[in-house]
Amino acid sequence: MTSPSLYWLRNDLRLADNAALTAAAAQGPVIFLYVLDDETPGDWRLGGASRWWLHHSLTSLSAKAPLTLRRGPADKVIAEVLKETGAGSVHFTRDYAPWSGALERRVKAACEASGAACHRYGGFLLHEPEAIRNGSGEPYRVYTPFSKACFATGEPKPLKPVPAFTSFAAKLASDRLDDWDLLPTKPDWAKGFSGFWTPGEEGAAARLKAFIADGLTHYADERDRPDRDVTSRLSPHLRFGNISPAQCWHAVRAAQFKSGGKLDKTAEKFLKEILWREFSYHLLHHWPTLPTEPFRPEFRAFPWAEDGEGLAAWQRGRTGYPIVDAGMRELWATGTMHNRVRMIAASFLIKDLLIPWAEGERWFWDTLVDADIGSNSASWQWVAGCGADAAPYFRIFNPVLQGEKFDGQGTYVRKWVPELARLPNQFVHKPWEAPRLVLDAAGVELGRNYPHPVVDHGQARDKALAAFKQIKGAA
Ligand SMILES: Cc1cc2nc3c(=O)[nH]c(=O)nc-3n(C[C@H](O)[C@H](O)[C@H](O)COP(=O)(O)OP(=O)(O)OC[C@H]3O[C@@H](n4cnc5c(N)ncnc54)[C@H](O)[C@@H]3O)c2cc1C
Repeated sequence: MTSPSLYWLRNDLRLADNAALTAAAAQGPVIFLYVLDDETPGDWRLGGASRWWLHHSLTSLSAKAPLTLRRGPADKVIAEVLKETGAGSVHFTRDYAPWSGALERRVKAACEASGAACHRYGGFLLHEPEAIRNGSGEPYRVYTPFSKACFATGEPKPLKPVPAFTSFAAKLASDRLDDWDLLPTKPDWAKGFSGFWTPGEEGAAARLKAFIADGLTHYADERDRPDRDVTSRLSPHLRFGNISPAQCWHAVRAAQFKSGGKLDKTAEKFLKEILWREFSYHLLHHWPTLPTEPFRPEFRAFPWAEDGEGLAAWQRGRTGYPIVDAGMRELWATGTMHNRVRMIAASFLIKDLLIPWAEGERWFWDTLVDADIGSNSASWQWVAGCGADAAPYFRIFNPVLQGEKFDGQGTYVRKWVPELARLPNQFVHKPWEAPRLVLDAAGVELGRNYPHPVVDHGQARDKALAAFKQIKGAA
């Protein structure tokens, strides 16, 4: 009798374009094992919104394959399952989180101890972080040459179809998904998520299709507009592997070729964003302290403020700056926030309130459905000015001008901050400048139903620049 092969599901919750599953299926009946491991990542165990996504992704996958669910340190659980089943091989997709390398080595050791072959595959990224090097053989620190090096490698490998597989027949002990309590109960802060998202492989495919049909044409010109629905919203699907980056890449390329060149600019722009994700993981792999330590060491001496009230106002979307508040409320209601607004809100926390970037990173970790150890850390450091290839610290977003530029009609602000909905465009990004009569007519009473600004942006900017001066040149 052929011994079963163990397919360890990780951030690859799909059947298509899945090298690990394809190889497992070719070797024997497949045991589909998902391990909820809250111990190995330590402080970086999955946040609340990610747990919601995971629950629904597993539910969706379990309709197509019989999942064995277990909880505990993944290497120990794998060792147990090998013992119980006599599986002859283990197959999994590589992960790049700072704790994953050691975990994968422990899994290999467990396989060796039980005489099973251990196989690791790529697929979460297009390029292994070791594969892209600059002319001196070093990892890249700057995005543009990194992206050029990626493009120079040519197109990703052809996609793998869903493999034919036989499931392992013996009944294995499995937890019940509901017993993992991945969904919030009281209060159910995720109640709005399901109207907005369809986690899982089918949801990802539908999202990609809709994006190519409706968003891609406008992507290059309008991707910075939070009042438009043109970006792909694929990030949580990519985060959990409901779809592979290669699937996204090939689909966009196919649409580009079909358009006879009409989509060239916009398709390239989208592919470059996929490469920002690759770059984040390239950095994380080569600098694994990225989630906690500033890439530029001089920032360790930055004179951050302790401002619990400011942090709470930011988290709740009550800073008095409409575009920031709209973003923070969008995040709470949907588990996502438009990229441009992520930059504005992050800049506000770091530079207007002088609150450490790591506090914002933590909040996003818990509240984003796409919370991702690579992209989240790299992006927070980018906004803070302390990352590789970061926005310079002294480039401080003015939340009013940003709002006026990217949400000119105030559509986005009105949607998420309804108490300002009746303000005229002229004041919707700066209600404190509106004359009393205008505020009254719009039903806005500052300090009562919408806050006064928690800081004066001009003064905050000067303070931030003075703080930056203190560390400039220090190493
Ligand atoms: C402070 C801050 C925190 C962030 N945290 C995360 C995070 O935890 N997880 C996450 O996936 N993205 C993060 N981003 C990046 C970006 O905001 C999201 O990837 C994007 O908003 C997702 O929307 P979309 O899928 O519609 O993107 P699209 O514009 O459609 O882009 C396509 C894909 O490219 C990737 N991508 C796009 N922009 C970036 C970027 N700047 N960095 C890395 N990858 C990118 C994503 O995988 C995205 O799905 C963060 C950005 C900022 C400024």
